[in-house]
Amino acid sequence: PQRIFSGIQPSGGLTLGNYLGALKRFVEKQDEGIETIYCLVDLHAITVWQDPERLRQQTREAAAAFIAAGIDPDRSILFNQSQVTGHAELAWIFNCVARIGWMYRMTQFKDKTAGKNAENSSLGLLAYPSLMAADILLYKATHVPVGEDQKQHLELARDIAAKFNHDYGRTFFPITEPVIEGAGTRVMSLTDGTKKMSKSDPSDNSRINLTDDADAIAKKIRRAKTDSEPLPESAEGLKDRPDARNLINIYAGLSGLSVDQVVTEFAGAQFGTFKPKLADLAVAKLSPITTEMNRLMKDPAEIDRILGKGADRADAIARPVIDETKDIVGMIRSR
Ligand code: ATP
Ligand code: MG
Repeated sequence: PQRIFSGIQPSGGLTLGNYLGALKRFVEKQDEGIETIYCLVDLHAITVWQDPERLRQQTREAAAAFIAAGIDPDRSILFNQSQVTGHAELAWIFNCVARIGWMYRMTQFKDKTAGKNAENSSLGLLAYPSLMAADILLYKATHVPVGEDQKQHLELARDIAAKFNHDYGRTFFPITEPVIEGAGTRVMSLTDGTKKMSKSDPSDNSRINLTDDADAIAKKIRRAKTDSEPLPESAEGLKDRPDARNLINIYAGLSGLSVDQVVTEFAGAQFGTFKPKLADLAVAKLSPITTEMNRLMKDPAEIDRILGKGADRADAIARPVIDETKDIVGMIRSR
């Protein structure tokens, strides 16, 4: 049987990219009846400094977004990573299995240190993929739905599992399958169609946040970067037009139509016609989620209770795996 694990960092408010590339698909997997484990990865978030009070707030807000988007904490396991100590324990063991060179080759590390002195970034930022491998393998997850940007990290998780199995001479960890599907797996920045939309981008205009109201969404889409050509007659014509392609992709992701269908619908249209339609669609899809998030955020104690309960359920699955891992590695467990 399949077991799905995935996570989102509470490193800021969730974006349209997180929604289309991750959250929306997390809900679909849950609704297909698959066992689903979803984690707010606060240990990952602190690889870049986070204000403590904001980290707490962002974690609760992310939990509210999950529930508002349709995650049912009874059917899925929803929790924050730091409450299940096995993540950090297994990550350490994987730090000793993975090679430093593997980490330096990761494009996320390169992107997140671009224009900065990489030597001055946290050691955690470099080791990030090792913790991510631990997140997945602690539950022996078979499938991991993620956005396109996490593909390389998932490949590394497979490499780490394979090297652990090889180093200790047994098939213990599964080789996990990435699940990267649909129009929303790579939502780009609204101000630069060659850059990924990110919650940690310094420019708020580059992204749509799940907390944005209808006016903010309309304004950001109106201002989104485009070229001066009308929309093409076929998807081929989007090839060298990253900004146009991004807006069409977003429309496809939100509407459930294919890119071809969206292109056909708006063939030859000006952005002045297309953008208001996109804004209306985004508001229609996102505002019910925003409203529900705001309602849930009025009771932070209830959110904390849900996360605590999720952590207990996650720990019950993780504990035997970390225990057996320690036995394999040769660590004494006398209690
Ligand atoms: P940060 O900027 O702090 O890294 P982020 O927006 O990249 O934040 P993550 O928490 O790193 O969000 O990623 C959570 C999930 O959302 C992952 O599965 C990731 O692939 C997906 N995701 C992130 N950004 C996008 C995007 N622009 N398009 C599609 N999926 C995305
Ligand atoms: Mg990211």
